Amino acid sequence: GRLRERLAKTRSSLAEGLGALVLGRKEIDDELLEDLETQLLTADVGVTATQRIIDDLTRRVSRKELTDPQALVGTLREELTALLAPAARPLTLPEDQEGPFVLLMVGVNGTGKTTTIGKLAQRYRAEGREVVLGAADTFRAAAAEQLQEWGERTGVPVIRGPEGGDPGAVAHDAVEAGRARGADVVIIDTAGRLHTQDNLMEELAKVRRVIAKQLPDAPHETMLVIDGGTGQNALSQARQFNQSVPLTGLTVTKLDGTARGGVLFALAAELEGVAIRFIGVGESAEDLRPFDAAEFVDALFE
Ligand code: GDP
Repeated sequence: GRLRERLAKTRSSLAEGLGALVLGRKEIDDELLEDLETQLLTADVGVTATQRIIDDLTRRVSRKELTDPQALVGTLREELTALLAPAARPLTLPEDQEGPFVLLMVGVNGTGKTTTIGKLAQRYRAEGREVVLGAADTFRAAAAEQLQEWGERTGVPVIRGPEGGDPGAVAHDAVEAGRARGADVVIIDTAGRLHTQDNLMEELAKVRRVIAKQLPDAPHETMLVIDGGTGQNALSQARQFNQSVPLTGLTVTKLDGTARGGVLFALAAELEGVAIRFIGVGESAEDLRPFDAAEFVDALFE
């Protein structure tokens, strides 16, 4: 279906690349396994995930469980699915929670954070939920404007503060507004400037503390938005954010138009405990999809 088309470039770098390697081979030898390893690394699957897969294949080959090169791709497909599955945990909003579910959104500028927030607002509105947005990126006026536009489009109030004002205060006001309105979800946008990274990380940690003080268990989700097209860089970004604001979820955007979608496997293998919630495969609201491991791998291999 559509996912298959949207993932065409990763499909070609990963699945078709692996298929081409086994073509015409008569046996599974060290050379073939090395070629597979190189192909996985080239497709951004990352060192940890690749090593896990190659070790497992090697074990199966030595036990003679796996002898036919033509069966290799099928086995790889199973292994890739199994590797992703524990990380593919959907974001479910509790039905009986007192007070709003607070979603703190973090990520570097340009990764698609604001767009993702807009798409989430639209999704939750369509489910009949009351949503409040908080524009805690007070650094960029354009970000608050963009959020405001999404708010108008989806009929959702947007809490803003003065330009250059305290992001923690905006987050606080957004949670307060969510409470006062009896909203189901409060989604808070944050800054993502890269050139003053230490300050940014401190600022995010502070915003998080403000929310945590205000509402027990909040933020209920701290979601990092990363651009899948950046490959291994996505991994180092995720690690860095995770150190300042413990992440619970990830959204990986722009998987349409990149060959580097293999990074999802790297993220699943390296960021234990962090769930992959959504993937972005295009610009429209339906293109933000709840992440499903089998569906993703099938779209690459079928
Ligand atoms: P922010 O700076 O992180 O808030 O980034 P924006 O939300 O402004 O997004 C930057 C650009 O990426 C916009 O043009 C979005 O439409 C685009 N974008 C976001 N997600 C996706 C996606 O999944 N696929 C594609 N192709 N574009 C996306």
